[in-house]
Amino acid sequence: MTDSIQKVRTRFAPSPTGDLHPGSARTALFNWLFARHHGGEYLLRIEDTDRKRSTPEALDTILNGLSWLGIEHDGSIISQFKQADRHREIAQKLLDEGKAYYCYSSPEDLQKMRDLAKIKGHPISYDNHWRNRDSSEAPHGQKPTVRLKSQQKGITTLVDLVQGHVEIKNAQLDDMILLRSDGTPTYMLAVVVDDHDMNITHVIRGDDHLTNTFRQLQIYKALGWKTPQFAHIPLIHGPDGTKFSKRHGSTSVGGYANMGIMPKAMTNYLLRLGWSHGDDEIISTNQAIEWFNINSIGKSPARFDIVKLLSLNSHYIREASSIELVQAIKPILEKKHKKSLSEKDIDTLIKGMTGLKDRAKTLLDLAENAWFYVAPLPLWYDEKAQKFLQKESIESLKIFILYLSENNILWSHDSLLAAARIFVEKNNIKMRYFSQTLRAALTGSTVSPSIFEVMEVLGKELSLQRFNLENIPA
Ligand code: GLU
Repeated sequence: MTDSIQKVRTRFAPSPTGDLHPGSARTALFNWLFARHHGGEYLLRIEDTDRKRSTPEALDTILNGLSWLGIEHDGSIISQFKQADRHREIAQKLLDEGKAYYCYSSPEDLQKMRDLAKIKGHPISYDNHWRNRDSSEAPHGQKPTVRLKSQQKGITTLVDLVQGHVEIKNAQLDDMILLRSDGTPTYMLAVVVDDHDMNITHVIRGDDHLTNTFRQLQIYKALGWKTPQFAHIPLIHGPDGTKFSKRHGSTSVGGYANMGIMPKAMTNYLLRLGWSHGDDEIISTNQAIEWFNINSIGKSPARFDIVKLLSLNSHYIREASSIELVQAIKPILEKKHKKSLSEKDIDTLIKGMTGLKDRAKTLLDLAENAWFYVAPLPLWYDEKAQKFLQKESIESLKIFILYLSENNILWSHDSLLAAARIFVEKNNIKMRYFSQTLRAALTGSTVSPSIFEVMEVLGKELSLQRFNLENIPA
């Protein structure tokens, strides 16, 4: 009865020792969606017990990556390192209850045991030397570790929400260390105590932790604690079927942000990597919360496909509002071109987005394609553009501009297009050629949205400045 009303609580437990890997980001996302779907809570625990490898920079990268993806945790962040006293307290409890013991084997003894186990082909190396010995026999000056008296007989069974029924013979598990000889808790102990203390109901994590889980179940059992439910998700592979690595693409979520991927596209992509809802490819966050379930997580590793990610990204760029896109490309442009954008530039860019967003795969493309709208004069004309800016075509430009002002043509896409049609007919010029000439003069290139749209977006004043022949060094 209590089970059915227990509030779902999940957690993401990164070690702050490196970037936020896409696989870890997906683990965080699944935990977050599962909690949100059930109206539960999603907690963030930083597993910072490895003091040498944990760095504040890595922590920042992880937190920035999560917040970029919109994965917000409930409550405050928990530091595992800060719980060390609590971990020691539990180790002491196990010692007091005779479920753990002091082990005085020296590193040399342990090495000998490992060598022997290797020769004999035993799965575990520690020979339980101190399991039933009294501390009074301890060698002088040897600081002990604390080991769990693991169950030696029988089997441990896990009914995993993704992997199904998995079991292991207890004889394959050694008496694992709970506290090191310097008194620091091991990862195995810390994870169990923290998950218990945080009332975690579901542990969703990579299947590289599956063997750890069997050891952790031994600790739960010794303590008589209720175990959370486990869901071990397959790791992400590269397109060649090997574990996803730098060879396949950026192994950092920040790398995708720098490539100009939109956070919504990244979350949608990560969601679909290993989880499905029929044939749906485009899934909004709200839909994902509504639909997410562990049953639909695949059992085999999903393959990372950058082409799919880029196609989702194009979709989200198309769907985004012009203001949102300009906010996203502003820092890209300012950094790349070392120019701070004025309010007028921003207005121009916002107007220009409609014609640009359909063709961009990334925000970097979008920024690059939008740059001509705000580039300082004189523009830089690429080689193809220069070919259109020859004496004769410049002459026709001059006449066209004169025609526009004499006829008081309204500076809008439709009337400019109509005026151009009349103009080319009258002067016997090919429309295609003429619009490329206009494009070359106004944008410095031969590729842009409809040139009459460009003229409207730039407005009369800016367009005329660009037509000013002093600004076209032909
Ligand atoms: N800190 C572990 C890791 O980064 C996660 C442990 C867990 O989820 O239980 O792989």
